[in-house]
This record gives sequence, C-alpha cells and structure tokens, in this order.
Amino acid sequence: MQAFDAVVIGAGPAGLNAALVLGGARRRVLLLDGGPPRNAKATAAHGVFTRDGAPPVCLKTIGLEDLAPYPVSVLPGVAREARALPQGFAVRHDGGWVQARRLLFATGVRDILPNVPGLRERWGRTVHHCPYCDGWPNREAALGVLGSGQEGHHLALSVRAWSKRVTLLTDGPDELTEEQREDLARVGVPIFTGPILRFGGVDRVDVRFRRGGRLTLDAVFLNPTQQQNSTLPASLGCELNEKSRVVVNENGMTSVRGVWAAGDMTGAPQYVMSAAATGMIAAVSLNTTLIHEDVRKFGAAFHKSPGEETGEPPSGGEAS
Ligand SMILES: Cc1cc2nc3c(=O)[nH]c(=O)nc-3n(C[C@H](O)[C@H](O)[C@H](O)COP(=O)(O)OP(=O)(O)OC[C@H]3O[C@@H](n4cnc5c(N)ncnc54)[C@H](O)[C@@H]3O)c2cc1C
Repeated sequence: MQAFDAVVIGAGPAGLNAALVLGGARRRVLLLDGGPPRNAKATAAHGVFTRDGAPPVCLKTIGLEDLAPYPVSVLPGVAREARALPQGFAVRHDGGWVQARRLLFATGVRDILPNVPGLRERWGRTVHHCPYCDGWPNREAALGVLGSGQEGHHLALSVRAWSKRVTLLTDGPDELTEEQREDLARVGVPIFTGPILRFGGVDRVDVRFRRGGRLTLDAVFLNPTQQQNSTLPASLGCELNEKSRVVVNENGMTSVRGVWAAGDMTGAPQYVMSAAATGMIAAVSLNTTLIHEDVRKFGAAFHKSPGEETGEPPSGGEAS
C-alpha cells in the first residue's frame, strides 16, 4: 500500500491550498480530486483576491498547476472509505487503498435547493445564494428573494443593499413577524406570498404563480439548506454540530486525533478565500504535529526531504 504523510480529500479551494502548503513544507501528499468545486455552475467567482471574476473551473486549473513543483500526487477519484490504523489511516479511493499519517478533509457541502420546477437549472446563472458573490453583477437589477421567516427577512434586507428593486417571494405563508414586515416595508420590499408554479426564462427569471400571474426578474437569491458531501468524517467519529458541519478548533483539528478539516464543511464562512485560508491553517497545524513527531522519532534527520536516504523515511515512503 502506498504511504503518504497526508492525504487531502477534496480539491476545491480548501483542499488545493492545503495540498499546496503541505507540499511546500516538503510533505509527501496525495490529493484526492473527487470532482468539481461547489461553485462550478457559476460563470464567475467574485471576492477572490487577485482573481476576481475568474470562472471557478479556471481557479481549479490554476490551483492544480500551482502544485506542480511540489511532492503532491493528484489522483482523480472519490475517497470511498477511511479507517483508523494503529499508526495513521487507510483510505480507499477509486484506485485502491493508500496509507497516510494524517488526514485532511476538504470535501465541502452539497446545496439542497427548494423543490420549485425550473430552479435547479438556473442555479449559479440567474439563481444565486450570496449577494457578496453575485450582488455586484446584479446591482440595481430587478431581484427576487425566495424565502420566508427570519431567513427570508435577512436575505431580502441584505440583497436590498445592492438594488432598490427587491421582491420577497415566500412561496406560501410568509412566517414573518410584524417587526420583520415593517423592516421590509421601510426599505420598499414588497412581499409576494403566492405559491410558485415554476421558474422559466433564459437570461431573466420568469416566475409563474400557481394561482395565475407572473413576475419577471433579473435574478433570484435564496438560502439553500446543505448536507455534507462526504460521510467519511462522521464514519471516523468526527463530531458534527447541529448544522451537520464538522466541528474543528481554530487550527482545523477535528475531534479525532490525526484528522483535520477545512472549508465549507466546517463552520467557516462559505467563500473561496475563507475555504483557502482554512485549508492553509489546517495544513500548517497538521505539518506542525508531523514535525514534532519526527523530531522525537528521527532526531537530526527529521527534516530530510522525500526520497533522501535517511534510513527509515520520516516523510511517507513506500509502505509494504
Ligand atoms: C453557485 C455558487 C456560487 C458561488 N460563488 C462564489 C463567489 O463568487 N465567491 C466566493 O468566494 N464563493 C462563492 N461560492 C462559495 C464557494 O464556492 C465555496 O465557499 C467554496 O467552493 C468552498 O470550497 P471548499 O474547498 O470548502 O469546498 P468545495 O469547493 O465544495 O470543494 C470540495 C471538493 O471535494 C470533493 N469531494 C467531496 N467528497 C469527496 C470525496 N469523498 N473524495 C474526494 N473528493 C470529494 C468535491 O467534489 C469538491 O471538488 C459560491 C457557491 C455556489 C454554490
């Protein structure tokens, strides 16, 4: 079984940056790339330092290219199973088993969209969730917010900061308090409670209501619920919080020794830059534990790079 210092699972911004930092720290790393990042359906990513407006697929391509100088192997494929061993972990991916001293999960979350016909097809194009990501291209446009209760109120007020023309679509009873209705009235946000039949339109969103009537909007914002993409952290015993996010400390350590997590799957703010930042923080913390372990185990040879003759390789090496 091939052995690595760390297996990083997931090649979104968190996993790519974690692999970059670990590779730059001379660690032998396997990055398992299970597919496109969460924002793959979007045409452009915003709020991304030095790459504002780049298509998410380009960010990933650049992220993978940046790994080239480092001892990072990238394997396309999904991690299917993870087991704790007396010393480290074994991970089964589409091509077999590998061994790792440490694991870093960056597997992200899956958005669960409301069940309105025509909505899924428009996700990332004319249906969005985050005004910080997609507010600027839609500034002063005719915008809808799909939601009710506290979440609908909060998102409608946020989106209202980008455009004066915002309508709250509650798709049924609005579940708003009197105070929330007053807030919305104060900033001129009308509330449509009619159940929605479907979303249509190509460059704009044509909202058809069940009881007749339609509304044409430039874009719609909503707040999807989410699920973990991977059940492996939970299967290893990592604690999850009430929102099903993996609980980590400020260094990205999970409740299971030897396992780190970064990005959207934790409680971190869900943006490209935050995911990349938490990937770096987790990688530094993970590497620090390896340094301390290797100093105790190998003394002066602890820092030898992969492949150098050190007797027993401190950094990965081929396990039998
Ligand atoms: C439509 C949309 C638009 C967005 N726009 C913006 C924006 O403009 N600006 C911004 O800052 N943020 C934006 N975001 C948020 C941003 O996409 C996320 O915060 C960011 O992608 C999180 O990165 P991550 O690495 O944590 O997870 P992800 O990007 O979700 O990456 C996780 C990766 O892990 C892989 N994976 C899952 N399970 C496994 C497994 N078992 N084995 C191997 N791999 C696995 C997944 O396939 C995926 O590639 C947007 C999100 C959406 C949905």
